[in-house]
Amino acid sequence: MSSESSINAAINLDHVLSDIRTHAVEAGRNPVDILLVAVSKTKSMQEIRAVYEAGQVHFGENKVQELVPKMEEGPEDAVWHMIGALQSNKVKYMAERVDWIHSVPKLKTLKEIDKRAAEAGRVINTLIQINISEEDQKSGCEPDDLREILDEARGMKHIVVRGLMGIASFEEDLERVRPQFRLLRELRDFYATSNDGGVQLEHLSMGMTHDLEVAIQEGATMVRVGSAIFGARDY
Ligand SMILES: *Cc1c(COP(=O)(O)O)cnc(C)c1O
Repeated sequence: MSSESSINAAINLDHVLSDIRTHAVEAGRNPVDILLVAVSKTKSMQEIRAVYEAGQVHFGENKVQELVPKMEEGPEDAVWHMIGALQSNKVKYMAERVDWIHSVPKLKTLKEIDKRAAEAGRVINTLIQINISEEDQKSGCEPDDLREILDEARGMKHIVVRGLMGIASFEEDLERVRPQFRLLRELRDFYATSNDGGVQLEHLSMGMTHDLEVAIQEGATMVRVGSAIFGARDY
């Protein structure tokens, strides 16, 4: 790897971590309560290693077929997060290694994760993705579907629902994403009062490169940042 690319990776990572700290402190929050997930989709193993060597351990991918080889080739202690639209029939390919699945869209998928994690002798951390943007193409369940999913999840032994995930609509005016993030937080707060067994709601996975600050103000505990760390993607 060229030393230039490792220096860029270190500088970019440092900027993002420093932005997270600044936004957290300005919002009256403790920066250690916010986990950065570096979104490495479309990026090479070499670029991922540069960011890893700069100190980043948590990485996110949005496609199972890209996640699986990266988990196999990547650093042994890297922590891998699946963050993309998820079909139940793909769960089996990642169940032996993936650490977090942010993008559970429905009960059927959660049941499949529980089953495959059981076969692998594991417990997988999951988040339920909620459609907060009111755009049809964004995936996730409706807020009204959450109760049924959580009622079933409390009895599951090989998953823990650790929180909720949302993707806000893309807005120039960031004040328009604030109510979307706020909805996610209110849902988490409401259902966290019935935490039990396989439901231990705590996390809010929300905020990407362009809406990071608002997400942190509204309570994000996991932010998913790609381009600010790795540079723009080709597609
Ligand atoms: C690509 C992606 C991100 C990161 O987006 P950036 O704008 O590059 O920070 C975050 N979350 C999901 C679900 C993504 O697919």
